[in-house]
Amino acid sequence: DYAIEAKGLVKTYPATKTTNEMQALKGIDLVIPRGSIFGLLGPNGAGKSTFINILAGLCKKTSGTVSIWGRDIDERPRDARAAIGVVPQEIAADPFFTPRESLEVQAGMYGVPAGERRTMELLNALGLGDKANAYVRQLSGGMKRRLMVAKAMTHNPPVLILDEPTAGVDVELRKQLWAYVVELNRKGVTIVLTTHYLEEAQELCDQIAIVNRGEVVACEPTATLLARM
Ligand code: ADP
Ligand code: ADP
Repeated sequence: DYAIEAKGLVKTYPATKTTNEMQALKGIDLVIPRGSIFGLLGPNGAGKSTFINILAGLCKKTSGTVSIWGRDIDERPRDARAAIGVVPQEIAADPFFTPRESLEVQAGMYGVPAGERRTMELLNALGLGDKANAYVRQLSGGMKRRLMVAKAMTHNPPVLILDEPTAGVDVELRKQLWAYVVELNRKGVTIVLTTHYLEEAQELCDQIAIVNRGEVVACEPTATLLARM
């Protein structure tokens, strides 16, 4: 089994008064192996976020099949979703919660029993241990981003997905995020990230899929891909 498997995945956004119909994914076939750090690389508008949103259950596919950790998203949507943690592009942490509360609420939403929560462990791993009881609104942008990563891991999913993890992020924070991601991967977590920076994909990923205009135009081990460029 794969971490993620998409077959013939199509997403068409319907036309609106001001826009034409848009086929954002044109029948994508993609397998993401378990244990990898997998990069979805492509320019803006390629369809990366659409793909992530379908995995996350935020967007309905038009046709095709998708399974996550061997669980078909149509047949076992809850089980499929439980297998992934998603770090969105935008920061969406509640300003009047503390990081500790934020993680507790998130764990509660996933039905993680109180005795199995790893709230402080996660906060410490992301360098937020001493901010556990501060208000989120008092945290820096970088801290909020790290909190988003901690939130995505509260239910201990086997797959962590990061949508443009370093967009608008400074060098120091990028290093911290990458170090955390690599450490998670060493512990067995499959990592999927989207990026439009080749350098980012190159440095971090062992396999890269290049997406353009809703199609996968290459999918190879990073070394093989780079050798051809
Ligand atoms: P990427 O994440 O690679 O930048 P997206 O998945 O955001 O690409 O977008 C792929 C295409 O689908 C783009 O042309 C975008 O404008 C379009 N699109 C994305 N979301 C919507 C939406 N909710 N409604 C209509 N079109 C959309
Ligand atoms: P990305 O940076 O991944 O390309 P965008 O900034 O294009 O994402 O899109 C941000 C949000 O707007 C997403 O939820 C996306 O689905 C939506 N969106 C993108 N393009 C369109 C569009 N043409 N019409 C409606 N919604 C869109």
